[in-house]
Amino acid sequence: MKIGFIGLGNMGAPMALNLLKAGHALNVFDLNAQAVETLKQAGARPAKTPKEASTDVEYVITMLPASAHVKTVLTGEEGILAGIAKHTPIIDSSTIDPASVKAFAELATQNGNTFVDAPVSGGTGGATAGTLTFMVGSTTHLYEQIKPVLSAMGKNIVHCGETSTGQVAKICNNLVLGITMAGVSEAMALGEKLGIDPQVLGKIINTSTGRCWSSDTYNPFPGVIDTAPSTRGYTGGFGTDLMLKDLGLATDAAKLARQPVYLGALAQQLYQTMSANGAGKLDFSAVIKLYRKDGDA
Ligand code: NAD
Repeated sequence: MKIGFIGLGNMGAPMALNLLKAGHALNVFDLNAQAVETLKQAGARPAKTPKEASTDVEYVITMLPASAHVKTVLTGEEGILAGIAKHTPIIDSSTIDPASVKAFAELATQNGNTFVDAPVSGGTGGATAGTLTFMVGSTTHLYEQIKPVLSAMGKNIVHCGETSTGQVAKICNNLVLGITMAGVSEAMALGEKLGIDPQVLGKIINTSTGRCWSSDTYNPFPGVIDTAPSTRGYTGGFGTDLMLKDLGLATDAAKLARQPVYLGALAQQLYQTMSANGAGKLDFSAVIKLYRKDGDA
């Protein structure tokens, strides 16, 4: 396949490399010249604009920070819609709000194209290993069409429903994650204060009803899980600012839908406090620092 790939950051670069490894031909664009150069060395063709990257290709894939960036790349004078051939699908793997997806899909339709939301989970490790989960919002027909392309970058390619339901799945999952991490942090810090060995408490929770991914894989208390970011100074995981962004997407979507998200709104404030205190780049499990005496976040 000939594919235009735009957004070569922490996630996009390894995803694009996996497409190249699978034998696809890539036009690539990013504002960061170094990121483009790295992909060029790996065999991709550099483009000077999103328009150029989207010209004469069978698919366009975007992996950008937020909805404003997707809008610019899509609708700018040198944007995707200015260069893309009719009927070519645009697959956006950025995490953005469902309402923006619907607006972008409308613009794409007016241009004779389809816009698919296909956000991912699995982090940079999954992007490098090609084991990402893709949550796809599109017609069944288009899902079947794009599945082989996404399979070069991911292991689980899930059809969530019509346009924007991929983002719905993504933000609902991260809503649970943000809340459970705060809950496990609260319990681990209380246990420490009340005098139980955190290792023992961690083991009990992980074989009891409090067990969850935030406790048994990513436990926020240092030393409970050897491979968790907490055990390496809260580095190299899922950044607090990214969690804050995703909880913002969830609470904004909830506001539009007039649906309460009591715990999500509270969790958002916790991560907001961390970010305001300068801990935005730490892994989000550093939220436990808000509860511990020696915490500095
Ligand atoms: P990143 O900041 O590392 O990369 C974004 C890239 O987009 C950068 O290289 C930047 O230069 C480029 N960019 C920004 N504006 C541009 C423009 N106008 N034109 C061209 N390029 C532009 O972000 P990331 O970690 O790769 O995340 C990308 C998306 O994936 C985000 O929406 C994020 O929420 C989501 N996501 C990230 C992770 C993760 O663990 N990092 C996991 C799942 C989902």
